[in-house]
Amino acid sequence: MDTENNTNTGAMRDLKSLSKGELIKLMEELGQPAFRVKQVEDWIWNKNASSFDDMTNLPKSLRTELAGKLTLGGVEEVARQVSEDGSRKYLLRLPDGATVECVGMPSGKKLAVCVSSQAGCAMGCAFCATGGAGFTRSLTASEIYDQVMHVRDDFNTRVTSVVFMGQGEPFMNYDNTLAALRKLNDPEQGGIGARHLTVSTCGVIPMIRRFSHEPEQFTLAVSLHSAVQKTRNILMPGVKKYSLLNLYTVMGEYVDRTGRRPTYEYALIGGVNDTRDEMDALCDFCRDTLAHVNLIQLNEVPGSKLKPSTQRKAEDFLNALARVGVEATIRNSRGADIDAACGQLKQRLS
Ligand code: SAH
Ligand code: SF4
Repeated sequence: MDTENNTNTGAMRDLKSLSKGELIKLMEELGQPAFRVKQVEDWIWNKNASSFDDMTNLPKSLRTELAGKLTLGGVEEVARQVSEDGSRKYLLRLPDGATVECVGMPSGKKLAVCVSSQAGCAMGCAFCATGGAGFTRSLTASEIYDQVMHVRDDFNTRVTSVVFMGQGEPFMNYDNTLAALRKLNDPEQGGIGARHLTVSTCGVIPMIRRFSHEPEQFTLAVSLHSAVQKTRNILMPGVKKYSLLNLYTVMGEYVDRTGRRPTYEYALIGGVNDTRDEMDALCDFCRDTLAHVNLIQLNEVPGSKLKPSTQRKAEDFLNALARVGVEATIRNSRGADIDAACGQLKQRLS
């Protein structure tokens, strides 16, 4: 698999896949005044128009012309689950029929959205429902962006943060992920501050290095899940070729270059990565580095032998990390009653 753009192929191009330059050129070719560009952008990026006919401030003739030349992408909701804690999880269908999940998590005046960067995932992590279901394709930047708009419209409120923790490995779809981050960050589009945009990766080292060179202050999370090579190889076979030692080195470079604190995700799995040796290895990996560890209770995937650890173990890990000066939290799983772990809604419906 590579990290190249993977756009929909079809007779007509998606309006949302045009660059600004291409949109300007198109409006010129259609004999339209320059201000039409801004109007069209407003419809697709702010108002989330689902058809050309919605674009009521464009002349009817232009709407018809556009509809004959271009598609309007968009996502269609095919299923949803609503949690007791207010989270909503959606299964969305993309124009070619591929489906992805995203989640909206409200909290007071805040609304966090969890998006997918790919339909499926090729990394094959043993604990992950998405990993078990295989890979379909990478998403375009606007397909990622549209998930956020869908949730925004459904809650009818501003989105305050986005995490790339749905299906897929964002760094196996680097260009589209970065373009989506920039759209979400752009004051004229998503308008969400870079620090509130978080990418989670299973540890694709060359792309972590590349990410550290991006000028924006995006936030990085790395799924660690074990600091023991043998265990990590079993849990996360897709990143076997990137050793923990190299991950440690590149994270050092990331911190030096950006000055930002990365998060390490650690899902506690009973008898697998919650032993004393695993705890010591995690402490060694994180001590004297800038890091925040998120200790997560494993979300059980139906049919899997892997079971969550105990709350007691999570507290032991928290205390051990505190003793070596590492910031950590036990993350309560949002929407546990709605299959909120990655890939589970899709798996249930397929
Ligand atoms: N591919 C990226 C982002 C999507 S997964 C990555 O792996 O980081 C988002 C997060 O959910 C990751 O930290 C992943 O390890 C975690 N995750 C996957 N399955 C899980 C499960 N069953 N229980 C708890 N966390 C899980
Ligand atoms: Fe892919 Fe992330 Fe799931 Fe691993 S945890 S299979 S990288 S989505």
